Amino acid sequence: MTTENGVRRYLIETWGCQMNQHDSEKVAGILSGLGYQPTHDELQADVVLLNTCSVREKAESKVFGRLGELRRLKEARPDMIIGVIGCVAQQAGEAIFRRAPYVDVVMGPRNLTRIGSLLDEARREGRSISLARDDDPIVFPTDTTARAAGPRAYVTVMEGCNKACAFCIVPFTRGREVYRDPEAILAEVRELPARGHCEIELLGQNVNAYHWGDQDLGSLLHMADRVPGVRRLRFTTSHPGHLKQGIMDAMRDVPTVCNHLHLPAQSGSDRVLRAMNRGYTRSRYLSRIDYLRRAIPGMAFSTDLIVGFPGETSDDFEATLSLIREVEYDQVYAFAYSRRPGTPAMSLEAWPGEEVKRQRLQELLAVQESIQTRRNGALVGTVFEVLVDGRGRVDNGLLKGRTRCNRIVHFAGCARRGEFVDVRITRANAHSLIGEPLVARGAA
Ligand code: SAM
Repeated sequence: MTTENGVRRYLIETWGCQMNQHDSEKVAGILSGLGYQPTHDELQADVVLLNTCSVREKAESKVFGRLGELRRLKEARPDMIIGVIGCVAQQAGEAIFRRAPYVDVVMGPRNLTRIGSLLDEARREGRSISLARDDDPIVFPTDTTARAAGPRAYVTVMEGCNKACAFCIVPFTRGREVYRDPEAILAEVRELPARGHCEIELLGQNVNAYHWGDQDLGSLLHMADRVPGVRRLRFTTSHPGHLKQGIMDAMRDVPTVCNHLHLPAQSGSDRVLRAMNRGYTRSRYLSRIDYLRRAIPGMAFSTDLIVGFPGETSDDFEATLSLIREVEYDQVYAFAYSRRPGTPAMSLEAWPGEEVKRQRLQELLAVQESIQTRRNGALVGTVFEVLVDGRGRVDNGLLKGRTRCNRIVHFAGCARRGEFVDVRITRANAHSLIGEPLVARGAA
């Protein structure tokens, strides 16, 4: 083993959603507990784990592209361990060894706590694999989580997804929903402020479907709000069909809950929503947006949209454009439909074709860009409370933080990470705001 002072080093590369990022933090914590040290340098790493996403084909192919690069390292250092973990691992399983025989470990997203024994087994036996079945119990490893630096901390409240959206592979890779005991969730939240995390983001693939006895996500928000040191609460990802009145009222009434909601619409056409098996209509979706906008000052919305779902006509696509014009989202994540093996939509006709999808995606993004430019421009002169989380990559040297409504703000100054600063907006881009600080309000 290529170790200095007998210390083994690990590198985790993460693709995909917040759940994947948080899974990487959990795996990092387990490895640190076993005496491994983190490194950013692949040449120093004894273990390289790719934590993967299989939601779209492109994400999956990037993993195999990266494995091709790692193969050269492995040839030079045969004792290095390469692992594929997360959703691609669960989906492809043994096939990964066939396609990339130099991979040593394959581990699905419900098996994180097994990482130590899988690494040992791979060293002993040459390779190891662990994939979850639907009825496997889930352990939520939390005591050791190695969280990224910064004021925001993720806390898992549930795993899996019981929905059957025709396009989506997540129910196959992450299995059925499993909920965490609210006492365990709260115990984890209570630990976080002392470690520098005053903004808590509750996580689940279907977070607003959370329930435990008669408690739901709304109850969790009320309970977490009372934890000393918690200044902001967020949650993701919500399904519009589970956005019950009680949750919306908790968003309105609980002081620390931020005035931003990510609410994936996927399409603005009822015909497509039905074909996707989303379980709501455009007007029911809009009624939720309307309620929250009236109830909560400065409420901001973001969404996920898919263009080119099988059978999407130009009228359906126009309906999606009219949805974004009507809602005026503050941010949109838009994707060209990608056929995923095993999902119900695989059996549908592969139409529209790639070129139409590409054009629709570009058109949608251009419409959204102009909406964001206009909406952000209207904020010049406004003062926002910004929670500093580091320095920006673009505006060199400027501090970076987020407003409660989840907008990114850059400003000059010398505040520390975790500090709240009131910032007056002086300039606006489509994707961020630039401002000048008023008086610093002190760290959390
Ligand atoms: N819980 C979310 C929801 O309510 O739908 C799903 C989260 S999924 C991991 C993130 C986003 O990826 C989805 O909202 C969807 O827009 C997109 N996505 C999922 N499957 C896709 C596919 N087959 N092709 C293109 N985009 C897809």
